[in-house]
Amino acid sequence: MARARDPIADLRRIAFLLERANEATYRVRAFRSAAKALAGLPTAELTERAGNGTLTELAGVGDVTARCVAESLAGEEPVYLRRLVATEGSDLDAEATALRAALRGDCHTHSDWSDGGSPIEEMALAAVELGHEYLVLTDHSPRLTVARGLTAERLRRQLDHVAQVNAALPEGFRILTGIEVDILADGSLDQDDDLLARLDVVVGSVHSGLKDERSKMTRRMLKAVANPHLDILGHVTGRMVSSRPAGVTGPGDRGHRARTRAESDFDADAVFAACAEHDTAVEINSRPERQDPPKRLIRRALEAGCRFAINTDAHAPGQLDWQRFGCERAALCGVPADRVINTWSAEQLVAWTHNRA
Ligand SMILES: [Zn+2]
Ligand SMILES: [Zn+2]
Repeated sequence: MARARDPIADLRRIAFLLERANEATYRVRAFRSAAKALAGLPTAELTERAGNGTLTELAGVGDVTARCVAESLAGEEPVYLRRLVATEGSDLDAEATALRAALRGDCHTHSDWSDGGSPIEEMALAAVELGHEYLVLTDHSPRLTVARGLTAERLRRQLDHVAQVNAALPEGFRILTGIEVDILADGSLDQDDDLLARLDVVVGSVHSGLKDERSKMTRRMLKAVANPHLDILGHVTGRMVSSRPAGVTGPGDRGHRARTRAESDFDADAVFAACAEHDTAVEINSRPERQDPPKRLIRRALEAGCRFAINTDAHAPGQLDWQRFGCERAALCGVPADRVINTWSAEQLVAWTHNRA
């Protein structure tokens, strides 16, 4: 067995790194109080409690800190610490760059069939130029009338059209079919089941009732996440951190020019646990005005064991290059490339989605 590390020193080191990264006080405090609670304990008791899982019975010690202690005592650098060290300082830029380079496609994009500004062909050509191997076309669903959501009939026509466009695109690149389907008030999805089953990738997002109370929003999201058709949970909190970037004018692109919006309220731990259980990916939405989910929630999704999709939600060809923003946020949170589904090839991605439903 590897030689034990000093668990108290590891907890303090984590607190220090969180402080230096200007993280929320409550996160830092969790590690400082655990270090304090455990510092007075005899080594034998510490080892025994780590062994039988009773560290959390001590005041100030939670699940995350107890796991760190157990890892230290087993002679491993705690995963939490390793992640912080890996994402520190100057390495971060390199990590974001590496993550961006590992992305082979984009799973959330719009065309002028709904509220995007450009034809499918132009979006595809821009994606080819960016070096993507695929682009998932995810226009809106019927109920989102302000965004010209596609009826079942129009979506069927779009599928035929995509097949034609694909035939004319360069070898090694293809448009995958998809939808950004509205998660309705009762948690059901706003499109026919047979169509959802036919599509390569289904992104599901909440676009209405964003101020609903916590239990209602949680129920709604849990039901959607458990739906086997849903592959990716889109812009999880619905927040808007800034007005729309200058020069972006998709017809009907959310209707208004400048506004911010608070995060919707839901039990994030329950939703991420469900995403992990049902293997539904959590989107890291790269749009500068969304930056959704916020970093603290990306970290919680990571801890919960979720997969991610780093998407642009592009409504115009130039916006397809916004993945860099999502990669920076993912790197800040220590999201490894092997948890990101759009590092997969188109074949792997489609095999995964079709396996699910
Ligand atoms: Zn959306
Ligand atoms: Zn969208």
